[in-house]
Amino acid sequence: MNFVLSDYHAAKKEEFRRFAETEIDRGEHYPRENLQKAAARGYMGLPLPREWGGQGEDFLTYTLLIEELSRVCASTGAILAVHTSVGTFPLLYFGTDLQKKRYLAGLAHGELLGAFALTEAGAGSDAAALNTGAKAVNGGYLLNGCKLFITSGGEADLYTVFATVDRRRGHKGISAFLVEKGLPGLTAGKSEKKMGLNRSSTTEIRMEDVHVPASNRLGQEGAGFHIAMSLLDGGRIGIAAQGLGLARAALDYTTAYLKEQEISGQKPGQSAAFTLADLATRLEAARLLVYRAAAVKESGKKCSREASMAKYYATDLAVAVATRCIDLCGIPAAGSAGPLAGYFCDAKATQIYEGTNQIQRIVVARELLNG
Ligand SMILES: Cc1cc2nc3c(=O)[nH]c(=O)nc-3n(C[C@H](O)[C@H](O)[C@H](O)COP(=O)(O)OP(=O)(O)OC[C@H]3O[C@@H](n4cnc5c(N)ncnc54)[C@H](O)[C@@H]3O)c2cc1C
Repeated sequence: MNFVLSDYHAAKKEEFRRFAETEIDRGEHYPRENLQKAAARGYMGLPLPREWGGQGEDFLTYTLLIEELSRVCASTGAILAVHTSVGTFPLLYFGTDLQKKRYLAGLAHGELLGAFALTEAGAGSDAAALNTGAKAVNGGYLLNGCKLFITSGGEADLYTVFATVDRRRGHKGISAFLVEKGLPGLTAGKSEKKMGLNRSSTTEIRMEDVHVPASNRLGQEGAGFHIAMSLLDGGRIGIAAQGLGLARAALDYTTAYLKEQEISGQKPGQSAAFTLADLATRLEAARLLVYRAAAVKESGKKCSREASMAKYYATDLAVAVATRCIDLCGIPAAGSAGPLAGYFCDAKATQIYEGTNQIQRIVVARELLNG
């Protein structure tokens, strides 16, 4: 059992930290330049096999990348995580050779941006209740419906869309489709005003008689729900890594702030010092959970329990750390001029997507009670 990063992983982490600190901007607009810089280094396809244009890195290395990016710009981390885990992996795991040849290298090189379109009004946590329809027609399917809260909506080039060919069959009626940007009838609707992750685009995706050729169905008809669920474990580890990055950012800022106060003669009290110690300890615990989940995934074993534990622990911690750091630093740091309020808002969003933290607890409890 290894509790420290190998020399290789430590060097990679350092590479990602340097990249994020020197090349990633923390601006307010959509982080297109950040994504281009990440693409130039091969980071948009880090864990994809080399034969498909990726870098062939393991899942832990990818997790380290998301952590370091999110420490500097959580929106960039979110876009890259969604692009990789649920935007590209569906194709890698379930695509035909023809589908892979068509899209995978473009996604791995960052020439194409991937998105995942599952959520609808009335089908969030209960994804099987989705209503978007896929009607079989000559040579393909007509998609009709509206997806909500889609990361990279309007920006993505390829959406993995989940739709039902037969509502009466519940989750067994759901299929997955590769839907290209620009198809007639496909539009990005309302852009969500979010409390956090504001640099990422989050929109409705509307489909009105969008014709998708049968060759763009991913997997068998009716296999869509299985595809969606099997991707979420990996996705959740990426979001957990975002939580780590955000918690670290808040803690680093607060430690530096308190040190500065000390230099100017305002020594932090014991209560502040104890809070800082507790937060740092919990962060170490979160890191072990997240890296372990990544290692279990890499081993090829089922990792639902590990991924859910890591996701809810690390993202709940990110909210707790940001909250306590605001308390510790007080008004000057919590105001809009300081970054802590931003960390808090970004962290709050990580508790919700790729399955809310209540749903993660259900996954863990189910494994304990039914295992
Ligand atoms: C920033 C952001 C980005 C997102 N990106 C994407 C994306 O790219 N693609 C995509 O498809 N979706 C995306 N989503 C949507 C996200 O996955 C859903 O918001 C999430 O699954 C929750 O669904 P909901 O909002 O409909 O809440 P609901 O499912 O309606 O849940 C409401 C509340 O009830 C709780 N709850 C629900 N069921 C249970 C239960 N059985 N037991 C206990 N509590 C329960 C939930 O935890 C939550 O607190 C994104 C969301 C956000 C915030």
